[in-house]
Amino acid sequence: MSTKGVMVVTGGSRGIGAAVSILAAKHGFDVCINYKSNAERALEVAGIVESHGRKAMVHQADVADEADIVAMFAAVDQKLGRVTALVNSGGVNGSIGRVDQMTGADIRNVFQTNVDGTFICCREALLRMSTKNGGHGGSIVNLSSAAARLGAAGRNIHYAASKRAVEALTFGLAQEVAAEGVRVNAVSPGMIDTEIHDPIRLAAMAPKLPMGRPGTADEVANSVLWLISEEAAYVSGTVLDVSGAR
Ligand code: NAP
Repeated sequence: MSTKGVMVVTGGSRGIGAAVSILAAKHGFDVCINYKSNAERALEVAGIVESHGRKAMVHQADVADEADIVAMFAAVDQKLGRVTALVNSGGVNGSIGRVDQMTGADIRNVFQTNVDGTFICCREALLRMSTKNGGHGGSIVNLSSAAARLGAAGRNIHYAASKRAVEALTFGLAQEVAAEGVRVNAVSPGMIDTEIHDPIRLAAMAPKLPMGRPGTADEVANSVLWLISEEAAYVSGTVLDVSGAR
């Protein structure tokens, strides 16, 4: 089967990003699986992508570091070809606590990873996707969070604020590049069963959630791949809640 395109997935080594990488391969994409420190898990995901007959590459890059991102997209050009889809899943929760206890370093790390990283990855993708830049179009999905509307008071307001910023980027950028063949959307998951959560808190929260359970990474990946696909050709600038009625 010929390739459906080339997808870059930040944070593709674990959780939602890993599920997206694998589903993308099933949909016919060659995939660049980005990770920050977990090479072994990234390689496992790459093996599964290849088992579906697609090309895979793994690439270490800290999305909080602009030079790392620029080098990653250059490596993708070389190994897989021009990127046609980007999923910004790499992200951090930050430390848990009230704002009056937060350190500047923690706030900066959350924003540099979740916001700056998403911005710079979008920039590098657009330099290759936008018809204005000689590209043939593409689709971007950013990971927001239900925290952006719930606020995360007493836990991690810096995280909630960073995800609101991701949504503002999504709305604005979608309009900026709408006539250049590029769609930009966000998915906003509720509580999803991944390693980002303390498993004890996850188990305690489960019965209190509207569906009595957290979501799965696969359930989020299904929505991400729909937004990427041509079935969503007229959907752009949208934030899709995948939050089980929360
Ligand atoms: P996860 O299981 O903790 O996985 C995080 C992924 O991000 C890993 O692949 C990790 O790489 C990568 N990563 C972390 N910091 C990075 C950095 N600086 N540079 C590059 N990669 C980095 O998290 P998840 O639950 O899948 O979350 C994925 C996205 O969904 C995040 O943006 C998160 O905010 C959002 N989200 C999650 C939930 C949820 O309940 N799980 C809810 C709403 C939104 P390594 O493996 O190398 O560490």
